[in-house]
Amino acid sequence: MSFLKNFGKSVDSAVKKTVERSKDLSEIARLNSDIVKLKAKIEMEYSEIGENAYKAYSEGVENVKMSESLEIIKDLFAQIEEKKEEILVVKGITICPQCGAELDMICVYCGTCGTKIDR
Ligand SMILES: [Zn+2]
Repeated sequence: MSFLKNFGKSVDSAVKKTVERSKDLSEIARLNSDIVKLKAKIEMEYSEIGENAYKAYSEGVENVKMSESLEIIKDLFAQIEEKKEEILVVKGITICPQCGAELDMICVYCGTCGTKIDR
């Protein structure tokens, strides 16, 4: 009887793990699609800069919109970095600050360079 009980429990936890895993995968897919959208916005700002630069040049005026676009691009890049970090957290991965190797969250030392990983 207790065997059946335990069997039921292990099936339960296997199902739970599968659900968590697919949740993780859809979360990662969502974050990746956010990154694609942010990159598209950056491309738009780049083209905006070019257009404004040419407009200003042809009209013989100062390009005042340039720094505005540059600030927007800087912010978009920061958002992409945040999304990338979120993906690592969902995957349970941390990055070695010394060599940049991808490590499991539970690692105490980097397997590549031996650096101690601080939490
Ligand atoms: Zn390392």
